[in-house]
Amino acid sequence: MIEVKNLTKQYGAKKAVDNISFTVNDGEILGFLGPNGAGKSTTMNILTGYISSTDGEVLINGIDILDNPTAAKKEIGYLPEIPPLYPDMSVKEYLNFVYDLKKCRIPREAHIDDVCKLVKITDVYNRLIKHLSKGYRQRVGMAQALIGNPKILILDEPTVGLDPKQILDIRNLIKRLGKKHTVILSSHILSEIQAVCDRIVIINKGEIVADDTTENLTKAVSDDLRYTARIDGPREEVIKLIKGIRGVEDVTAEMEREPGIYDYEIEVAENSDIRRDLFKRLAERNWYMLGLRSNEMTLEDIFLKITMGSDVKVGAKPVDEKTQRELMEQVSGAVMAADAVSRMKISDGSEETESESDGGEE
Ligand code: ADP
Ligand code: MG
Repeated sequence: MIEVKNLTKQYGAKKAVDNISFTVNDGEILGFLGPNGAGKSTTMNILTGYISSTDGEVLINGIDILDNPTAAKKEIGYLPEIPPLYPDMSVKEYLNFVYDLKKCRIPREAHIDDVCKLVKITDVYNRLIKHLSKGYRQRVGMAQALIGNPKILILDEPTVGLDPKQILDIRNLIKRLGKKHTVILSSHILSEIQAVCDRIVIINKGEIVADDTTENLTKAVSDDLRYTARIDGPREEVIKLIKGIRGVEDVTAEMEREPGIYDYEIEVAENSDIRRDLFKRLAERNWYMLGLRSNEMTLEDIFLKITMGSDVKVGAKPVDEKTQRELMEQVSGAVMAADAVSRMKISDGSEETESESDGGEE
């Protein structure tokens, strides 16, 4: 368990972290989400004892990181934003070096072998780190965090700079690790956090603006559900048909996609799932449904709402116009990058999805 109480970090006149408190329970995968410069790395560096705080307290399984750093650090595996790799060492040399540095007591060969198997770097074990691809290097970074079997893993933006396939591999790995470890994972990419984490803490300008389960955060704003259905059929009659379905509150069809084929925007009451009814009734009339999607609020929407200060009941704080613009730019960039990934299959971590197609080399 990690307890963060009233943590503040001041760099000169600048408050990078401003009186934040949160708790991470055993076995949880916590997403630490925030735009660039929000204070994620600063917080993680304090949690892991790399830098000191200006004020506040961090307890790792009850041990104060400042009072007893050696004992507290034993519980933590840390993958910093820039992994501390030595390019001229082989993976083997490096992991043995980390093993010594951590004064690890677990039988050496078996332990290092286990860790390599877990993060899938056994095939590059004797290669120099500088000859590895970015994806493999990141996994070597994960391996060093796992040496010594720490209960807690703290991973700072572990997928930055990776390609979509490598991102997926790391995500699946984190999910696997989450079964045996308590994990804090930071990211500025929302879909990343959504795909992996049970709970989310959102930080903006050094302050926590939301702290809840992924499910609750999504629920908080997704109660007005909308569907978009692309239907091939006579427009006025289709509208009448849809309006007759229980739970439908409003239908509009302004978007003609192909001659006679419209996108019908359907608003429904809370907890109304109209999909089956809609399909059946259209089929009865021999009209064709060419597409259907629900426009549930995504975490992207939520994140924007929260950081831009719209009326959301999770602790929203208004921000100025310049910040809004910056956030918009960051988020839209992140969304585009994440979009490619979210279209790929995400496994529950139990099955094999990782291929070694990048061969480990640059
Ligand atoms: P994030 O990881 O969320 O991108 P950081 O924790 O790296 O954010 O940074 C938070 C804020 O603190 C930023 O405004 C950053 O410029 C500032 N900052 C970080 N490290 C230092 C430092 N060593 N000296 C001065 N300012 C810093
Ligand atoms: Mg950072």
